[in-house]
Amino acid sequence: MDDVIIIGGSFAGLAAALQLGRARRKVTVLDTSLPRNRFAGHSHGLLGHDHKPPLDILAEARQQLARYPTIKLVNARADSISGAIDDFSVLTGDGESLAARRLILSYGVADQMPDIPGFAKGWGTSIVPCPYCDGFEVAGQHWGLVWSGPQSHNQVRLFHDWTDTLTVLTDGHEIPSDVRADLARRKIPVVDGRIAEIAQQGDHNAIVKLDTGSKVSVDILFAHPRNKPSASLHESLDLATVDTPLGIILKVDERRETSLPGIYAAGDLANPLMPSVTLASSHGATAGISAQQSMLV
Ligand SMILES: Cc1cc2nc3c(=O)[nH]c(=O)nc-3n(C[C@H](O)[C@H](O)[C@H](O)COP(=O)(O)OP(=O)(O)OC[C@H]3O[C@@H](n4cnc5c(N)ncnc54)[C@H](O)[C@@H]3O)c2cc1C
Repeated sequence: MDDVIIIGGSFAGLAAALQLGRARRKVTVLDTSLPRNRFAGHSHGLLGHDHKPPLDILAEARQQLARYPTIKLVNARADSISGAIDDFSVLTGDGESLAARRLILSYGVADQMPDIPGFAKGWGTSIVPCPYCDGFEVAGQHWGLVWSGPQSHNQVRLFHDWTDTLTVLTDGHEIPSDVRADLARRKIPVVDGRIAEIAQQGDHNAIVKLDTGSKVSVDILFAHPRNKPSASLHESLDLATVDTPLGIILKVDERRETSLPGIYAAGDLANPLMPSVTLASSHGATAGISAQQSMLV
């Protein structure tokens, strides 16, 4: 039996494994190699790894983990989880049944691409979610923001630190009159209509075609599609969740323990703030240490 099985071996899961491996705990990491930022050419904001391709950062991390004899990295999907503290079972897609005293869920979330021609193609290059990740490279240029709800008003305020040239695309959302007045005061144009298509030109530069017939060209488009957990394993054990404006996440305490003793969660799957490799790694490390300390005799 393993001490810990980690489901999802990306930034959060590998950070958890590193702490556990260094504490000489027996760990299996199951991973299907589909990190959320795999569409991005470079990852920004992680100390020591700024502006590196995300898959290179993960490959280097996996190489470093190979040094620890108690960590096993397995390329497999977890299909189901069951049991209780000190006696969890995980069934893999290969039909293997694994057992562990603790589980760490770090299988991330999947962005749900809207059914707009060109959206999925531009995701990670001309269409991005986060200014901390991609804002610096296009600072001062013309940004577009696809409105996704009340939280978009905060994005407008946030974006001021990077650019003074912003266009809001309502994409069919109703923007309340007081918010429209604030946008007008900030001299931010608001373009009504649903997005019919997004064409890409060069590395960035999105040309947004609206169902009204008009077109808006921007140097980068920010959008926040809804997301959902990349797997539904938490549902079988009825783990508590929290609603966020863009999807559900798992509820955890400050030690990253979920509502079921012995199961921890880390990374985007349990992060109510913004998605971030740094936060995923930090929460993963916390989950690993918490799981280890919960097994002390
Ligand atoms: C376009 C884009 C660009 C981004 N750029 C940046 C950036 O520059 N800087 C930054 O800090 N953040 C960036 N982010 C955010 C960043 O991608 C996430 O915060 C980070 O990947 C979260 O790490 P994680 O380990 O929680 O989840 P993920 O990286 O999403 O990894 C989850 C892992 O679990 C695996 N998995 C899923 N289901 C199963 C299962 N059933 N069994 C086994 N394995 C499973 C997946 O294959 C995947 O490998 C970006 C996000 C996007 C969408």
